[in-house]
Amino acid sequence: MTDGFHDECAVFGIYGHDDAVTMTVLGLHALQHRGQEATGIVSFDGGNFQSHRAAEMVGKAYGDPAVMAQLKGRVAIGHNRYSTTGETSMRNIQPLYADLAFGGFAIAHNGNLTNAMTLRKGLVQRGALFQSTSDTEVIVHLMATSSEKNPVDRMIDALKQVKGAYSLVASTGDKIIGVRDPHGVRPLVLGRLTNKQGRDSHILASESCAFDIIGAEFIRDIEPGELVVLDEKGLHSKRPFDKVAPRFCIFEYIYFARPDSVMEDKSVYEIRKNIGAELAQEAPCPQADIVVPVPDSGVPAAIGYAQACGIPFDLGIIRSHYIGRTFIQPTDSTRHLGVKMKHNANRALIAGKKVVLIDDSIVRGTTSRKIVEMIKQAGAAEVHMRISSPPSTHSCFYGIDTPDAEDLLAHRKTIEEIKEFIGADSLAYLSVDGLYRAVGAAKRNAALPQYCDACFTGDYAIERTDFEAQKTEAKITPIHECRKG
Ligand code: AMP
Repeated sequence: MTDGFHDECAVFGIYGHDDAVTMTVLGLHALQHRGQEATGIVSFDGGNFQSHRAAEMVGKAYGDPAVMAQLKGRVAIGHNRYSTTGETSMRNIQPLYADLAFGGFAIAHNGNLTNAMTLRKGLVQRGALFQSTSDTEVIVHLMATSSEKNPVDRMIDALKQVKGAYSLVASTGDKIIGVRDPHGVRPLVLGRLTNKQGRDSHILASESCAFDIIGAEFIRDIEPGELVVLDEKGLHSKRPFDKVAPRFCIFEYIYFARPDSVMEDKSVYEIRKNIGAELAQEAPCPQADIVVPVPDSGVPAAIGYAQACGIPFDLGIIRSHYIGRTFIQPTDSTRHLGVKMKHNANRALIAGKKVVLIDDSIVRGTTSRKIVEMIKQAGAAEVHMRISSPPSTHSCFYGIDTPDAEDLLAHRKTIEEIKEFIGADSLAYLSVDGLYRAVGAAKRNAALPQYCDACFTGDYAIERTDFEAQKTEAKITPIHECRKG
């Protein structure tokens, strides 16, 4: 796999605030869970753009006062990039920046364009010189070659040619543009921060938790297919695309989003608890002594499960907070190591108990297998695994980093086989309808599902032909970059 075409990330943008850069750093910090591999900010001081990009976590990247002093102005956008299986390349760190006919332009993207490879080939044949392997750059080139005059129309022109999932935040210096793809697969929310003089600044962010950290007010979700412009006159909204049925990513509720965020007017935490309660209904475990979450991702669902079935919730696994998510370790050997670095069994509690273990998902099975083994070694009498999502059987092409389908445990094994593989005494997953009930729908509408649930159903709403082609052709040759220090 190349290191491009996998942009599951966080975006942030603020227009017209004296501390725009600091607000962006704080916002990106709150959104760190969406991307830990790299971060970048592009600011505008009324005359010039400034940028800083680093393959580091937010705290480190902007911790140096010299870096902060370089970033100036009342307009800023920022991005956190998620780790992928490919190389970390400086040239792929967003926001991307280009000088276009109308002036400077910076763009940050969360999502995945599913026809980027095809568009890129066409653009390269017409002479476009790509600087990165990121699908986002396709939008920049489409804008550069658009016959439209102003930046917003160029952007609409470009976006009408792309397919896939995108939540974008872009800056032309005098305005910030925010867009959500017509299906609204990835989140994007609008907020407002009032300064001491009583002036409002509008903010865009991947999740509402980015508003809480800076004391901003959450206004609403950007609607699927909506484009907003933030400028001196305030907020302007357009709907430039043909309307299609929304397909918000249901996995944001299960795992990806922070539990203190609100998406589609629903608290992610409450939904995770509902998911746990549904799981308790569908897959009870009356003989168990304690309900134990795999921290942190399993915690809200385990609370919901425990409350629904009346079995005590207890912290049978203690998590070290000084290591990132194990899933993002690039090789099988380090991923395996990472599990033990991250989790330890609370022996005093576990010994002799029948444990219901709750996690949000099984991807390759590395985590579950190690954790079940660890709990058993700590003396548990029985370990009953309950997963707060349906089996992950299909890859995501819309912005969540998942392995190829063949590497997904549930793609090639039955539930009974997975139970054997992870060494649990029993295993159950939430049903697809149970998941829909937990998010507030009576049931899944099979003809037109209310959410994107392709990772559980294989029902891909958006064309993804490029990804099939990608395996056999049109490889992008990555460059090995020599970096200082
Ligand atoms: P695995 O060990 O491959 O089965 O990974 C399962 C763990 O990864 C679960 O505990 C999830 O919380 C977490 N997880 C699930 N999906 C993702 C994802 N897209 N990115 C990072 N972590 C994930």
